[in-house]
Amino acid sequence: MAAGTKKVGTTGRFGARYGLKIKQKVLEVEKKQKKKHECPRCHKLQLKRLAKGIWSCKKCKYTFAGRAYWPLGE
Ligand SMILES: [Zn+2]
Repeated sequence: MAAGTKKVGTTGRFGARYGLKIKQKVLEVEKKQKKKHECPRCHKLQLKRLAKGIWSCKKCKYTFAGRAYWPLGE
């Protein structure tokens, strides 16, 4: 193993110049992205991201503009 290699979980690829706060933020975002998203119309967990900010429900075909990495909310 190379000297100075530190394990910092999935955020390791961002390197040491990023602070812990940012790493926590990134983990939070990744968690939200991995979560299944609920359709605001039929409430099935069938939302699929078509493009950045564009979401579509596989069940009822409802398509809407949402957030870039998760459908709605913060
Ligand atoms: Zn739906």
